[in-house]
Parts: sequence; structure tokens; C-alpha cells
Amino acid sequence: MGASGVLMPRIVEPTPQTIEAAAATLRAGGVVAFPTETVYGLGADTFSPRGLDRVYELKQRPADNPLIAHVLGPPGAQRLTSGWDTRCEVLTQRFWPGPLTLVLPRALSVPARATAGRPSVAIRCPRHPIARDLIDALGDPISAPSANRSGHVSATSAGDVADEFADVERLMVLDGGPCAVGLESTVLDLTRPEPRILRPGSVTRMELLALLGPVRAEPVERQEASPGTSSRHYAPNTPAELVTAEQLAARLRDASEPAVVLCFDRRQVPPPHTAIEMPQGAGDYAKQLYASLRRADAMKRVVILIEQPPGSNDVWLAILDRLRRATA
Ligand code: AMP
Ligand code: MG
Repeated sequence: MGASGVLMPRIVEPTPQTIEAAAATLRAGGVVAFPTETVYGLGADTFSPRGLDRVYELKQRPADNPLIAHVLGPPGAQRLTSGWDTRCEVLTQRFWPGPLTLVLPRALSVPARATAGRPSVAIRCPRHPIARDLIDALGDPISAPSANRSGHVSATSAGDVADEFADVERLMVLDGGPCAVGLESTVLDLTRPEPRILRPGSVTRMELLALLGPVRAEPVERQEASPGTSSRHYAPNTPAELVTAEQLAARLRDASEPAVVLCFDRRQVPPPHTAIEMPQGAGDYAKQLYASLRRADAMKRVVILIEQPPGSNDVWLAILDRLRRATA
């Protein structure tokens, strides 16, 4: 019981016993939140329509936004698709386990609810040992979107998941510590002859190009291929704006109320404004992004200003993609 007498989510230390209990919950058509190296997931047994319904209900996720199925490796993936090919072999040898999701033709055995009725299925093989232990204990794939309310900031710690679903009685949250990557997986569509990146991530286009030849990057504005990538997403409740360093100085000077700022140097932010200093490196920035957005949101200022990152490599592009949606 929480302090107020309300039943709260339960943050649970992963042990063989608690992982077995979590697998039993999934088997019974329940949902469990668990860590992955990208962000925390809200999982159901891929073959449990009841569990899948519960994920959509808890997340308030639009019914047309499909889920990613999490497997232990290529054999688990091959069960879910009729389209496993040599590209999959090459890619999974290089990037699995890890933050690369493959969209492939759906096998008939996969429930329509797991793919929002699409003829394709998204499959990923997580690296996080707790995610792997849970899939192993269940003996089936786990379909899981990010553990946040639809459109809101993703969660990268067990505490953030519990905050996000504070009203959900007894939701089990396996605590795997802070996520090592902190950004959602790269989603690669392989259902057409030319591979397409539907969502950029820490597995970059350059890395994929090196293995596959031409890879298209779906522009941010094109949404129909991957419905969950709609323009407003990853967004705090507080209005957020992406600004250049120059714009930032002007905004802070003219502001009538204190703002909170995600910036690279706290000296840019005079009182009464509050700075949250972000790392200069893309990997570290990604790792801290969602926790920083949540911290900024919790301050309940009139606005969150986010300094535009200067970097332009592929990982910064993935970060910018999230920042644009958080501020859309
Ligand atoms: P989330 O797990 O909440 O980060 O969202 C999963 C992402 O994968 C969303 O952007 C989905 O649109 C995308 N996705 C999942 N399944 C498919 C699919 N069959 N085809 C295209 N995109 C997909
Ligand atoms: Mg998400």
C-alpha cells in the first residue's frame, strides 16, 4: 500500500522467484513492466489476446498502433514471421541482441491484436538480462510497447514507470536499474525490396547501409508506415520548445516567469530560471534525455526550453527526432 492507502504499482527486485511470478502473470493474461536496454516495456504474452487488450487499455494506446514482439533470438523470431531471409540473418548476427527492430511479414499464428491487424510484425531481441530472463521464463515472445501513457515521455527507470502508472493497482515493475541506451530501438521495415528506417535509433543508417546497401530513411512527416511515430510523441505535460543557443538567451531575457532549460552549459541560464545540464556526447545525452524531461516536467514551470543539440551524426538525428516530437 502507498502512503495514501492506495494500492500502487509494485517495484520488484528481479530474482528467479519474482521473474517466475512475472511470467505466471503474463501467462494468465496479465501485464508486467520490465527493463530493456532501450526503455522500460509494458509487456503481455504475444499469444494472449486478453493481455494484449490490457496493454492497450493501460497505455491508452490507439488500437491502430502495433506492438513490438520481444524474442530471445532468431529462432523465436522465425516463429512469428513468414518472411525470414538472408538480410535478417546478416542483420541479426550483427545487431542482436540489441536495439534493432525488424518489421517482417506476419506469420498466421500471430494474433491480429499483436500487430494492430497489420500483415506485418515488428520483432526485437533485447539485450537486457532481465528482459531475456522474463521471455525465457514465459517460453513465448512478449509484446511490449514503451511503458508510458500513449504520447507521453518514455520511462527509463522503474521509478519512472511507477510514476507513470501510479493509478494502476499492483502493476508489477521489475527493477533493472536505469536503461543503458535510453532511446527506443531503430525500427527497420523489411517488408519491401528496399529497407526503410521507420524510426531512427542508436543503430544508425550508416551501420545498416554497410550491411544492406541502400536504406531509405522515412521522413518524420510520413506516418502511415509506422503509426506510432505520429508527430506529437515523447511529450511532457508542460509545453516544451526546441531553441538554438541564441534564441535561448533571448527567451530567458524576455521571460515573465521562470522556465526550466535543458542546456549544455548551466551558465547560459541565469536565475530565476533552472538549468538541467545535458551531456555533450550523443550516447550520454540519449541515456539521460527522458529522465531529464520528466524532471523538468515535475517542476511545473510554464515552459521547458530545450537547447538544440549541435551534433549531426546519426545518433544525434535520432535524438533530434524525439526532441522534435516532444516539442511538436
Ligand atoms: P513503442 O514500442 O511504443 O516504442 O512503439 C513501437 C513502434 O514500432 C511504433 O512506432 C510502431 O508503429 C512500430 N511498429 C510496430 N509494429 C509495426 C509494424 N507491423 N509495422 C510498422 N511499424 C510497426
Ligand atoms: Mg513508445
